[in-house]
Amino acid sequence: MADHLTDSCIFCKIIRGDLPSYAFLDINPLSDGHALVIPKYHAEFFHQLPEDHLADILPLAKKIAVASGLDQYNLLQNNGPMAHQVVKHVHFHIIPKPNAEEGLG
Ligand code: 5GP
Ligand code: ZN
Repeated sequence: MADHLTDSCIFCKIIRGDLPSYAFLDINPLSDGHALVIPKYHAEFFHQLPEDHLADILPLAKKIAVASGLDQYNLLQNNGPMAHQVVKHVHFHIIPKPNAEEGLG
């Protein structure tokens, strides 16, 4: 799987490692555990992502949801400024919705 990373993108800088895709906590979380899952390939839009990189992302998002014991959450992916994309490197948000009955919501 060929790397396609840039020097100008903050997410490319974060993923200079060995994994085909990557997950980390959002710097400005909407809730506790708000995570981002990104491909190790610099593409601005979801539809520009090669199939092999695409195939890595959702299984990793699922592992995070399962390992974190998430019950209710948003899986969110924005494309373009009109759709509220700020960082121009494809990413999925996993945004936990804490259980209000446990006093966390
Ligand atoms: P977008 O609006 O583009 O879908 O979401 C971009 C997300 O990236 C935002 O939730 C923002 O808080 C997060 N973010 C931006 N820069 C950084 C960073 O340097 N590190 C981390 N961990 N998250 C970042
Ligand atoms: Zn990038």
